[in-house]
Amino acid sequence: MEQLKVPLCPLYTLKNGLNHHFGDKEPWQIVAVTTSSVLAGVWIYNFIFDDECVITRTKKAFFRLAKKIPAIKSRLDKEITKVREDFQEEVRSRTGHLDYLIALPDSGWSTESIISKVEGDLKLGNYDWKNGKVSGAVYVNNSDINQLVTEIYGRTAFTNPLHPDIFPGISKIEAEVIKMVGKLLHGGPDVCGSMTNGGTESILMACKAYRDYAREVKGIKNPEIVVPVSIHSAFDKASQYFGFRVKSIPLDPVTYKVDIKAMKRAISRNTIMLAGSAPNYPYGTIDDLAAISELGLKYNIPVHVDSCLGGFLTMFMPDAGCPVPICDFRLEGVTSISADTHKYGYAPKGTSVVLYRDIKYIHHQYTVTTDWPGGVYGSPTMCGSRAGGNIAVCWATMLKMGMDGYVTATRNIIHTARYIEKRLREMKGIFIFGQPGTSVVAIGSNDFHIYRLANALTKLGWNLNTLQYPSGIHICVTQVHTQPGVADSFINDVQNSLNEILKDPTLPPEGKLAMYGVAQKLPDRAIVGDFIRCFVDSLYYIPTKKQ
Ligand SMILES: *Cc1c(COP(=O)(O)O)cnc(C)c1O
Repeated sequence: MEQLKVPLCPLYTLKNGLNHHFGDKEPWQIVAVTTSSVLAGVWIYNFIFDDECVITRTKKAFFRLAKKIPAIKSRLDKEITKVREDFQEEVRSRTGHLDYLIALPDSGWSTESIISKVEGDLKLGNYDWKNGKVSGAVYVNNSDINQLVTEIYGRTAFTNPLHPDIFPGISKIEAEVIKMVGKLLHGGPDVCGSMTNGGTESILMACKAYRDYAREVKGIKNPEIVVPVSIHSAFDKASQYFGFRVKSIPLDPVTYKVDIKAMKRAISRNTIMLAGSAPNYPYGTIDDLAAISELGLKYNIPVHVDSCLGGFLTMFMPDAGCPVPICDFRLEGVTSISADTHKYGYAPKGTSVVLYRDIKYIHHQYTVTTDWPGGVYGSPTMCGSRAGGNIAVCWATMLKMGMDGYVTATRNIIHTARYIEKRLREMKGIFIFGQPGTSVVAIGSNDFHIYRLANALTKLGWNLNTLQYPSGIHICVTQVHTQPGVADSFINDVQNSLNEILKDPTLPPEGKLAMYGVAQKLPDRAIVGDFIRCFVDSLYYIPTKKQ
């Protein structure tokens, strides 16, 4: 007892002090003071440690208030109406000359007229994507694969893996795809996974699995993920859907890989997942996944590798003679990987895979309901019914390609990307962001506004992707760019455009990209969000014909 008393001493002092302080207060007063101070404490804590930092929220509150001032509000409404009309005008310029169907036909059409209608619609659009004028978007244009997937889809269009008793073959095919990809990613015998409708869904699933895993196993109620700022926007989508915080870690300004030290500092008790990309979409660089894997092991946090874009290249690069860092389950800390079969897997749009090192994670991906009158229900991914046809054409494409097909395609693509990179590096006025890890080559400039190059190339029929913070453009090389002459024609067009631009490097960009540049500088991101909503609305806009 004597020993215990010493450490308790401060407590006694505290007790006496409190008794003295509250000695003349009535019990209700003590209760009121205690309750309100605890509530105030919680409020202050939440205010300071909210999802966003205090400055961001103060700024947002300021803009929200400012927008209530009538003069500002009417100005903004005008601005938004104009943006809306601009987006609608764009739709009109593309399809406004055509008749839209706005009601179900009274009687069914003949197959011939439907086919002729769809052929007409497919002819729309000015970009020559078949001949390599477009970055990313189309990963293969191969008549053998087209014919194969048409055959296979024709046979499987009405199947649904939701009913494995009715379509056991489709379940078998899905399991085979998972097994094959698991092996290509050097997963052990316990590797498991699901096919999804695309990369975004694969990422959503991993985020959902880790949120629920952390809640159940670690009791984490305010989940956070720690990811590079360059990670795909699907992680933001996941945060909006599933309610967790995203801590975005800046990139090293030279390598354009995530700053590992900053990543380490951002880890907290609430971190449910770390992630890196192989490669990321904007710059095409591969994060230091070995280091992220180490962080995951050290702090016992799951690590996801987003190989949506590059998975079906990095798997084959060693065999194709192209060096690439290890970015799969051979890294001990990596607990899941997403890889898109509908990108460099060359399958039609609508499939991707998400794989886990261990079944304990995927169990938290599944949705299970036990008390529904429709029956006990368990399903692996977002969808209930799923397109068996998509699964089958993915599987068929993989079998058609085979190891040798993928290795050859990978070699051609990486060689083309390296050739383009090398030639671009020789040009004055532009630079390449970091070291392209696979097929994406991102271009910036310190001498002129890089969007001017994008504009110049658009005029020459090219469609590249534009980047912000910092401004840049990139080309994502696919099989269509490996056709003879495509890379050289791109390089020539860049060089000729540069020659023009560098005559007066100070000119600002024009047109749509000028607007894009202005939007980047707007401090009120909520307004930019409103603009983007106008854009999404315009996808469903039906132009009315001018009489
Ligand atoms: C394409 C992509 C994804 C997923 O995109 P989907 O369009 O949903 O297939 C995820 N990460 C990266 C790096 C990507 O390029």
